[in-house]
Amino acid sequence: MRYLSTRGGDSISFSQALLRGIAPDGGLYVPESWPSCEPAPAPGPLAGVAALVLADFVADDGLAGSLSEITSEAFSFAAPLRQLRNRDTYVLELFHGPTAAFKDFGARFLAACVSRLNRPDPRPLHILAATSGDTGGAVAAAFHNRPGVRVSVLYPRGGVSLLQERQLTCWGANVGAYAVEGAFDDCQRLVKAAFADPILQREFALASANSINIARLLPQMSYFAATSLALWAERGEPTSFVVPSGNLGHATACVWARRLGLPIAEIVLAHNANQTLPDYLVTGAWTPRASVATIASAMDVGDPSNAERLLHLFPGVENLRGAVSAYAIGDDAIRARIRAGWVEEGQIWCPHTAAGFEAYARHAMNRELYGPWVMVATAHAAKFPEIIEPIIGRAVPAPEALKALGEGLGAVALAPEPAALREALLAG
Ligand SMILES: *Cc1c(COP(=O)(O)O)cnc(C)c1O
Repeated sequence: MRYLSTRGGDSISFSQALLRGIAPDGGLYVPESWPSCEPAPAPGPLAGVAALVLADFVADDGLAGSLSEITSEAFSFAAPLRQLRNRDTYVLELFHGPTAAFKDFGARFLAACVSRLNRPDPRPLHILAATSGDTGGAVAAAFHNRPGVRVSVLYPRGGVSLLQERQLTCWGANVGAYAVEGAFDDCQRLVKAAFADPILQREFALASANSINIARLLPQMSYFAATSLALWAERGEPTSFVVPSGNLGHATACVWARRLGLPIAEIVLAHNANQTLPDYLVTGAWTPRASVATIASAMDVGDPSNAERLLHLFPGVENLRGAVSAYAIGDDAIRARIRAGWVEEGQIWCPHTAAGFEAYARHAMNRELYGPWVMVATAHAAKFPEIIEPIIGRAVPAPEALKALGEGLGAVALAPEPAALREALLAG
């Protein structure tokens, strides 16, 4: 499989696309063709399904021979599917990894790939990640103490929960944390500027761990595949997914999984008040905005990068309307869903997952729904105690992974200027 830029250039291997992150023309890498998963691989353990689904995507790459080792190492925790009281609805829990958010899947896959790369480059590998909260922790955990790799995570100061901040700053060793005076979009802009900086390029082989990196995005197809195959085997119907969305990496993975021929029907995207994509579907005008802070902060993205990949597969608003539906859910509606989940079902959802439940309810008001519907639960509610506890009036029990987290060691404060990041990286 070769990878092309969304803007037309390049034809490179999986490992090259992984290391480059972003294409020289500023585009994002997409697979040059779509292998078919029909007849579909048999449902089974996630790591096995992942190896089958991803095989064509790393075929003829140096990593091809290690793929099942990589998926076993990366997907070493469960992604349970639970049926809800309405028996056509399910919740897919993607928060049982080391940092209790779905970002663990992609970050651990990326790290497992990087450890096995045969890299002739003499420059040390330096991974950069802008984070709205969960990416940075997952990437830091996945790369911590891996030899030969340095990791720098950039997060908006004051824009992440206290626990997320601890997850970003508790590592030390080869992991650096930078608190940027600005929003997530500033962090993303700084990372992009670093990639274009000849001085940093001379010093380091820079790689990105954001969902612009193809090696973080592709593995996320695995649980959409495993879930839709399991429900197909059980019910003989294609599955629809509700995906809490920010930078649209998760959404792209789900759309790509359906493109492979997996039994996926509708895809509904739940955004928060950062509603660039829902607005686009209504107006047909792509108008990125500065991000606004919400209680579903991991989705506070005003200019979602992966829209470029979605629009590459579905050029034009009509095509994209046919592919996905999207809703913008405000903070009050998210709070009401968290409360309803607790009072009516005894379930505690994180704010992002709650936005998904609200999007599902709005979608159901618009039309008749068929087949199984899966709400993707993107993070554990215990990551957001300051938001959840006042709403439900009790403490959220923390999973073991969060209890085991070390103390925060502090972050380096950073002005939202490319020169400040350059200086910090060179000094680090
Ligand atoms: C990152 C994240 C999202 C949004 O995923 P994207 O791929 O950026 O659209 C949703 N929920 C949680 C908890 C996240 O960490």
